[in-house]
Amino acid sequence: MKACYPGTFDPITKGHLDIIERSSKLFDEVVILIMKNPRKASTFSEEERKELIEQSLEQLKDHSNIKVEIGHGLTVDFAKKIGAGVIIRGIRAVSDYEYELQQATANLMLDDSIETIFFIAKPEYSFLSSSTVKEIAINGGDISSFLPKAISKRVEKELKRKK
Ligand code: ADP
Repeated sequence: MKACYPGTFDPITKGHLDIIERSSKLFDEVVILIMKNPRKASTFSEEERKELIEQSLEQLKDHSNIKVEIGHGLTVDFAKKIGAGVIIRGIRAVSDYEYELQQATANLMLDDSIETIFFIAKPEYSFLSSSTVKEIAINGGDISSFLPKAISKRVEKELKRKK
């Protein structure tokens, strides 16, 4: 079974990478889908986000069944186009639940042949979000422990530059 993991990934964090690794062990193929979130203005361009994800994948033991793509439009349309039967999402805390439930229900109504499957965040990543990382970096804090090792220096530099 093929799965797709849609998100903004602005930028990818250790929490995202953990979900990617865990899901890649369960599914034959995982396609990470970089999407526009109309609720958030993005800091990194889609191409930059793709590069950061690809660089991060290099540090996994095995990433042979993981791909990264940039998507537009509805997630269910993209999932159907690539033949994915599952949408993966992550839940960190109760605060994620309401939004995720809304999205998953809407997607089910749009196409009930595609199921959303949730992974719960590991406790060490349950507070971690791309926006927290950006806020810390912009205020001069050290974000290296929140980001995949392969990209932390680059992201820190970029965020200070974009400040
Ligand atoms: P979106 O804007 O679509 O919510 P994000 O990049 O913020 O995109 O998140 C993509 C998915 O990954 C969401 O389901 C989110 O709940 C999940 N996620 C984000 N951070 C973490 C984390 N630290 N641990 C587990 N899941 C996470």
